[in-house]
Amino acid sequence: MLRLSNITVDLRKKEDLKKEICYALNLKEEELLDFQIHRKSLDARKNKILFVYSFDVKVKNEEKTYRQMAGKKRIQLKKISENQGTDEIEFPVGSIAEDQRPVVVGSGPAGLFATLILALGGKNPILLERGKRVDERAVDVDKFWITGKLDEESNVQFGEGGAGTFSDGKLTTQINDTRCGFVLKELLNAGAPREILYLNKPHIGTDILKIVVRNLREKIVSLGGEVRFQHKLTNLIIEDHEVRGLIVNDDYEIRSDQIILALGHSARDTLEMLHERGVFMEQKPFSLGVRIEHLQKEIDKVQYGKYAGNPKLGASDYKLSHRCRNGRGVYTFCMCPGGEVIGASSEANRLVTNGMSRYKRNEVNANAALLVGIDPRDFPGEHPLAGFQLQRELEQKAFELGGKNYYAPVQRVEDFLLNQETSEIGKVQPSYLPGVKGTNLRRILPEYVSKAIEEALPHMDHKLKGFADADSILTGVETRSSSPVRIKRNENFRSSIKGLYPAGEGAGYAGGIMSAAVDGVRVAQELLKSR
Ligand SMILES: Cc1cc2nc3c(=O)[nH]c(=O)nc-3n(C[C@H](O)[C@H](O)[C@H](O)COP(=O)(O)OP(=O)(O)OC[C@H]3O[C@@H](n4cnc5c(N)ncnc54)[C@H](O)[C@@H]3O)c2cc1C
Repeated sequence: MLRLSNITVDLRKKEDLKKEICYALNLKEEELLDFQIHRKSLDARKNKILFVYSFDVKVKNEEKTYRQMAGKKRIQLKKISENQGTDEIEFPVGSIAEDQRPVVVGSGPAGLFATLILALGGKNPILLERGKRVDERAVDVDKFWITGKLDEESNVQFGEGGAGTFSDGKLTTQINDTRCGFVLKELLNAGAPREILYLNKPHIGTDILKIVVRNLREKIVSLGGEVRFQHKLTNLIIEDHEVRGLIVNDDYEIRSDQIILALGHSARDTLEMLHERGVFMEQKPFSLGVRIEHLQKEIDKVQYGKYAGNPKLGASDYKLSHRCRNGRGVYTFCMCPGGEVIGASSEANRLVTNGMSRYKRNEVNANAALLVGIDPRDFPGEHPLAGFQLQRELEQKAFELGGKNYYAPVQRVEDFLLNQETSEIGKVQPSYLPGVKGTNLRRILPEYVSKAIEEALPHMDHKLKGFADADSILTGVETRSSSPVRIKRNENFRSSIKGLYPAGEGAGYAGGIMSAAVDGVRVAQELLKSR
């Protein structure tokens, strides 16, 4: 096959990819046997918007085409083998005795993919999830968003699919690991749209993610895995620094000497138990701040100019950052185009925000987290879990300032910059449910966070006109951008307790759906090697 790259197609042009390829390679249509989109991205830098493609193509006379076209300035052409980049990954297959079944705790991306690998490896793994299966979980989450009634075990953080299920399902990642291909293929096979394989900014959307999560679970079960919902790890059986098993729901035990902990960044009670049981962990930098909201159409106008609203473009996104004079970093994170600010609490009387979009991204507002870098010097003490204490204090304040009913405290950007209460909402209507209360968010945020945001806003507005518009809405408080603690593990992914393998975001080794899933694959592969 040939890989043809750097083919640009103007937004205004009627899309005919076959024609574009034949023109680029100087082929007659019948000489092009087959083609697949390998990559698709958007170039909106100048006042003309282009889609930039690379294709894997099969042509009648490859050698002739390659000789004629390779080296032509305007296109990049290279030979690739038919199965180049196939996302096969290795895993030794073997049988396992009942009391040797590996156990995975947590059905987020890390836990789901670790369990899938162990099942593909013939290990009949047991996957424990403290929350409910995704359909029942969705009912509890909707109830919280409508009534403010929180279920501390079934919410945006806990339940089948983990934290990312009620999200925009962005699959972008900074990691460059061949396992990403495997993860994307499995997500595709489980129902994700094909474009996730080639878009440079793929997303699934919460509506499709729920289906994908369910199908992944069914695949695990079909391969001999077992999934237990509302089964919570509550304690460990440890002898001579080796794990022998675990206690579930303070009720029954499972004997196993291979346990993967894929707990996520919100399992504070479980981390407290692990710390008490001697699992070595340490403080880790993270970020906190607020969610900022704008009218999506105004962001589109700035990003796409006269092409804003073109259905081929969809809702635009942005990524901004600023380094403050005192060195502290401020950046936007988890931007949700055409989405909503959501309540992501998991503990009673504590309020946390996050963001979500459905696949179509067609809500009125755009939102993103506006975060400030926090490091252990900012934590209220040396204890490895002191970061949780900082998060809890802010979440409690947000709950109280919102009216103690899970209504969120909000503030217009102009009022924030003037350090005054918001009494009236302007053109941007807050999307957070069940409701909001105008206030002054500086009463919640540590002063160094408020100061950093105050300094960054005008700079970010300079980069994205309207970002600090007076009526833009800030909703508080965003504390769960990643985990404030890391469970130490060695080069074999083993913790300070033999047989215990920390994985994913909660253990401090991932940030985001893709990197968590890849970390789950990596740890499970290591487990398979060790038997
Ligand atoms: C609202 C929201 C939107 C997000 N949007 C995106 C996005 O668009 N793109 C992106 O890349 N990332 C996004 N993220 C981040 C992403 O979801 C996480 O990085 C990712 O889910 C981490 O995966 P994980 O498997 O490590 O942990 P988690 O997904 O947090 O899963 C941990 C699981 O462990 C379970 N668990 C915890 N304790 C126990 C116990 N004691 N016993 C049994 N089970 C337990 C929990 O119930 C949970 O299901 C979002 C997060 C949130 C909250």
